Amino acid sequence: MHWKPNPPETPERSVERPLPATETIEIESQISKEELKLEKVLDVLLSIRCSMPSTMMTVILLLCVMAGMVPSALLAAWGGAQAVCQTIRYLFIRWAQRKRSLVWSARGLLIITLIDANLWGGAVLAFRPTQLSHQIALYLLINIICSARIPIFAPLPLMQTIQIVIPTGMILAGLCTSWSPLSPLLIVCELAWLVNLVRLSWRIGNRVEGSLLLRLENARLVVALQEALNQVRQLAIRDALTGIYNRYHLIDVLQREIDNHHRHLTPVSIVLLDVDHFKKINDTHGHPAGDRVLQDVVALVKTQIRSIDTLARYGGEEFVCILPNTAEEAALSVAERIRLSVCCQPLSVDGQDITLTVSIGVAEYAPGELLQSWLGRADRALYRAKRNGRNRIERADNWRNRLPSLASADESPT
Ligand code: GH3
Ligand code: MG
Ligand code: MG
Repeated sequence: MHWKPNPPETPERSVERPLPATETIEIESQISKEELKLEKVLDVLLSIRCSMPSTMMTVILLLCVMAGMVPSALLAAWGGAQAVCQTIRYLFIRWAQRKRSLVWSARGLLIITLIDANLWGGAVLAFRPTQLSHQIALYLLINIICSARIPIFAPLPLMQTIQIVIPTGMILAGLCTSWSPLSPLLIVCELAWLVNLVRLSWRIGNRVEGSLLLRLENARLVVALQEALNQVRQLAIRDALTGIYNRYHLIDVLQREIDNHHRHLTPVSIVLLDVDHFKKINDTHGHPAGDRVLQDVVALVKTQIRSIDTLARYGGEEFVCILPNTAEEAALSVAERIRLSVCCQPLSVDGQDITLTVSIGVAEYAPGELLQSWLGRADRALYRAKRNGRNRIERADNWRNRLPSLASADESPT
């Protein structure tokens, strides 16, 4: 079996300080202009995409209204230009939504909006209906289209203005060029409509911007909360002194390994180790020195196990390595490497080199065994190692060899 030492642990990311509830949230100052602009552009792209079927229906409606009033070649040319423009618009929106590039999305949107606004306004000058009733029907339809698009373009004032001012400007031009006694009245109505549309679009735009800012801030808070939650989760399963897993998490991992064993029938072993005469270190050098020694021991053990193995602190100076996919013989050789790495590496305590030893118990999981029994066998092997002179390894008793009365008293096969 190939053993790879653990990669060095990366320092945990610091979590942003959450905003106190009483502090006024200065949303605008926290969200960059670029971020907000991208959000607005994406919002407009999505709205345009959703409104495309109704845009096509409006084109068809306008063609139907104009049929018989203007030459069919003109109608076909205008309808064809709309179809090409809408297709390009659709393809561009798909591309821009995937790309999420602010510069190119905004530029493309501006060009397409300019073409689109000119196409709608261009209908006024191209069709130029002779009858007043047809003229009014056409102008009304185009004004309604401009109004219906306010919520779509609301987040972007420039595009909003383009798509309102160009078509209504062309209506005004149309009214001036085909003069009739009603033209002054219609011009006043059109101007009033234009002013109202612009005012309305600014009001809606401001509201949409406010809701976008809140949405961005919410997304940011969710990320900060998730990071804080991850840190709390880590703290709950880590030992504060050594940074390895604590006993609480050890039990979880052991149970998971037992489940895996029953599913895949792969062997799994534990190595339980205890530092010999550790109390003497505390008594001689003090508790803080003892703490540093425990950290050094953990660092040494980590160099001898694989990244898929789990190292946890079982108690004061006792540690457990869970070795998945490892039968007893292989686990014994890992234990031997751990033992040698500790006893061959003098540790510096208060400038003084001391040599430590560890006693180890090794137990392979026996099918059907309960978690406590597995740990108990490793524990008994460890204490046998202590009794037999320390700085040694003992393998656990075979679970099946235990007295049937004892085995059935506290365990039942799952
Ligand atoms: P043995 O060889 O039989 O294991 O002897 P020992 O002295 O290692 O074992 P004992 O159980 O008598 O003592 C363990 C000591 O470990 C006692 C306890 O104060 C100390 N200890 C437990 N946790 C910590 C810790 O987090 N830091 C320090 N510095 N000492 C600890
Ligand atoms: Mg000890
Ligand atoms: Mg102990």
